[in-house]
Amino acid sequence: MNQYDVTVIGSGPGGYVAAIRCAQLGFKTALIEKYPTLGGTCLNVGCIPSKALLDSTEHYHNAHTTFKEHGIELKDLAVNMNQMMDRKGGVVKANVDGIVYLMKKNKIDVLAGVGSFVDKNHIIIAPTGGGEAQTIETKNVIIATGSKPTVLPFIQQDKQRIITSTEALTIREVPKHFVVIGGGVIGLEMASIYARIGAKVSVVEYMDSLIPNMDLSLGKELKRVLGKIGIQFYMSHKVTGATRTGDVVTVTATTPKGEELKLEGDYCLVAVGRSPYTAGLNLEAAGVQMEERGRIKVDAHLQTNVPGIYAIGDVVRGAMLAHKAEEEGTFVAETIAGQKPHINYLLIPGVVYTWPEVAGVGYTEEQLKEQGKAYKTGSFPFKASGRARASGDTDGFVKVLADKTTDEILGVHMIGPRIADLIAEAVTAMEFRASAEDVARMSHAHPTYAEAMKEACMAATDNRAIHM
Ligand code: FAD
Repeated sequence: MNQYDVTVIGSGPGGYVAAIRCAQLGFKTALIEKYPTLGGTCLNVGCIPSKALLDSTEHYHNAHTTFKEHGIELKDLAVNMNQMMDRKGGVVKANVDGIVYLMKKNKIDVLAGVGSFVDKNHIIIAPTGGGEAQTIETKNVIIATGSKPTVLPFIQQDKQRIITSTEALTIREVPKHFVVIGGGVIGLEMASIYARIGAKVSVVEYMDSLIPNMDLSLGKELKRVLGKIGIQFYMSHKVTGATRTGDVVTVTATTPKGEELKLEGDYCLVAVGRSPYTAGLNLEAAGVQMEERGRIKVDAHLQTNVPGIYAIGDVVRGAMLAHKAEEEGTFVAETIAGQKPHINYLLIPGVVYTWPEVAGVGYTEEQLKEQGKAYKTGSFPFKASGRARASGDTDGFVKVLADKTTDEILGVHMIGPRIADLIAEAVTAMEFRASAEDVARMSHAHPTYAEAMKEACMAATDNRAIHM
């Protein structure tokens, strides 16, 4: 029987990063994956394919709309969905192949199949396509089995017309009417993809705000800007059903006035969140306890109630984000090695890859109000940025929240061009507990979108932004 120091179950960003860090620290490491390719949700059906399609459709949308303004005229512009989807497939392949390379480089044994506990130190791996199962012995286990789309019990998803994000990444035609249930991150990214290539898109949201977990000012501005590309929003609507007849999907919802809304489309994406995935693990055999919402219960060291068994990523509490899973992968590997790593969960940024992009880190203004914290704000709109005017991306703003007395930055919330990258500056500043004044006094290259961060910090310190 093969023996390992650490066995990781699941090869998503949590699992593969944990495996690599374990191998770097000198542990004999195995990685079990039931899906035919490595990389988990993120690389196969999540972050990477969605960003590939967002980039492709953004090019098309710009060619159709803003190119003319730049003096570029195109004739016979058309979308080739097969090519767009094939390209996305190529991007995914390059990334998942990269993980295979990294496993080899780090001498990690990749075991294909479903991993289940026999007891706390033994795992049986049943090959997905059938064949003989093998059992391994292990000192430690890291569970990184991720999540799956949440289902609404009253909607039957046939995965052809009433679909999850996984199928939404594979449609090889421009939908006529793409109805999205859920105005969160995944719903809005998918809505953007199809709206940009000419589909009529409707988003039905239960809450009165889009991306309601982020600073509310962001959702408000995003709704305004996405409205400009034709996305129709039905806010404060409670979906009551979605049914398919032939190729027509009918979505019904109750309006805020208690009336019935009926939307007919050719596709309905159900994007109401994701749920932790533990099916097939046989956690009972190891005695691992769960907590609410199907998550695995862990302590501050990400260890379960069973010593030597850890859990990370989407399957445990906290933001369901790839970079959070990655941090936890490294954290657990180093914990097993006897080190004392640390994760600052407050500073895990949240990003939405619509256009404009949206990002936030730290406390939202709503949270600060709730805590009764004395704070000040500084905002800078992209319409006052020279760089944004040059590229024509003048929607959005950067908002900085700072402690009223100490000036320490408590939260940064942005919507605008390329701010998925710009948020890293806010994370760095906050990790070093910078004041708004600190950032206001740092030189930012001109002209850049990043100047909006400096100006917002200047606005937060004595309202002294220069360019507005
Ligand atoms: P996962 O990536 O879900 O990986 C879990 C793996 O475990 C899977 O490969 C699964 O097959 C395997 N597995 C499960 N059970 C077993 C078993 N018993 N035996 C063997 N293998 C098993 N996050 C971001 O940060 N940025 C984004 O831009 C972003 N975009 C997204 C877009 C979409 C459409 C979706 C759906 C998600 C997106 N996410 C994004 C979220 C991100 O994908 C997840 O947070 C991340 O993948 C979680 O990583 P993980 O390692 O916990 O699990």
